[in-house]
Amino acid sequence: MTTLESKLSTAKKRLNELDFEYFVSRLAKPGEDILESMTADDAHKLHMAVGIAGEAGELLDAIKKGVIYNKPFDEPNIIEELGDLEFYMEGLRQAFGLTREAVIQHNVEKLSIRYEHGYSDTAAQTRADKA
Ligand SMILES: [Mg+2]
Repeated sequence: MTTLESKLSTAKKRLNELDFEYFVSRLAKPGEDILESMTADDAHKLHMAVGIAGEAGELLDAIKKGVIYNKPFDEPNIIEELGDLEFYMEGLRQAFGLTREAVIQHNVEKLSIRYEHGYSDTAAQTRADKA
């Protein structure tokens, strides 16, 4: 690649970055608008949902270290992250007035329809409960 081609490539790349910045700045909902309609209850639900996502990431990282890095699984850490997940899931269930039992029952009913004859790739792809 010549120096000119390299400069053009860099300029084009920079232009694309600027276009993307503009694109995002035009489409992202402004924080002020979010705050205007957000209630304390919404904030709590968001806190719990963000907590679930964060703790799921921490659990995934603990599993990654065992599977990908071939380190011994850190069971105390896995228990800690599962507990953190349970905390936020319970908080979110409470925020929606749901019980753990009701959520589990719903899941069992859904998967009983999806996998009426046990697990299969076909059943997973077909998702009979969504038909
Ligand atoms: Mg944690």
